Amino acid sequence: MQIPEVFAKPQRALAHADKVMRELLLDKIRVDEVFKGRKLVAIKVHIGERGNRTYVHPTYVAAAVNLLRNLGCEVFVTDTTTLYVGPRNNGVSCARVAYENGFTPETIGAPFIVADGILGEDGVNYRFEKVGLTISIARAIHEADALLVISHAKGHGMSGFGGALKNLAMGCVTKNTKKYQHDPYKPILIRPELCDGCGECVKACLQEAVYLSNGRPVFRDELCIRCGGCIIRCPTKALSGAEGA
Ligand code: SF4
Ligand code: SF4
Repeated sequence: MQIPEVFAKPQRALAHADKVMRELLLDKIRVDEVFKGRKLVAIKVHIGERGNRTYVHPTYVAAAVNLLRNLGCEVFVTDTTTLYVGPRNNGVSCARVAYENGFTPETIGAPFIVADGILGEDGVNYRFEKVGLTISIARAIHEADALLVISHAKGHGMSGFGGALKNLAMGCVTKNTKKYQHDPYKPILIRPELCDGCGECVKACLQEAVYLSNGRPVFRDELCIRCGGCIIRCPTKALSGAEGA
């Protein structure tokens, strides 16, 4: 397997964003060659959560947009909705958070488009018969001729360390596929003898996907987003993820 080269820059000097992105995209990645003739280009970003600042600043994204537009590309900036309940859970609120965090057309020089639509379900399916798996790529990303991924480094419960690969694998798919990716966190009552019916798992679930019946948790699979919250909260360790998570 070929180990990919990773190029990273500290996010210190916004005033030099143009220079930084020129060095990365032109000198290192040679986007002028890679994106040559690509008409519609998506820049996949992580727009950050409401109120936090741990994402790549829009000034850098604007520099990338400018560079690609100068190459003749038609550029849009994109992200997908989240699986979990929160401010980015649907297309409207996701766009609102993008604007709040600075990803406005005026700032980045391109439209921001939520790639998986209003409900996070707008995708193009690919079926892998050998493993019986269907994955759904967010439609706007699927329709682009080329994709530039701009990522920040982060920790993640499922992938351990998150960067460009996580931004691609989890960040470019619809909710259904995100749910599948989080299946190891599907909760099961693995040690029923330890369950004392305290109901902490019910309180932990923001999805209302678990209720008690005869003092035991019952999980509503269609509502459960595999966040693992109930597993972490269970004081007796009666719960576990389906794959030991
Ligand atoms: S939190 Fe744990 S012990 Fe309490 S009801 Fe849920 S599974 Fe049982
Ligand atoms: S993993 Fe637990 S807390 Fe998370 S959605 Fe499913 S039932 Fe609710």
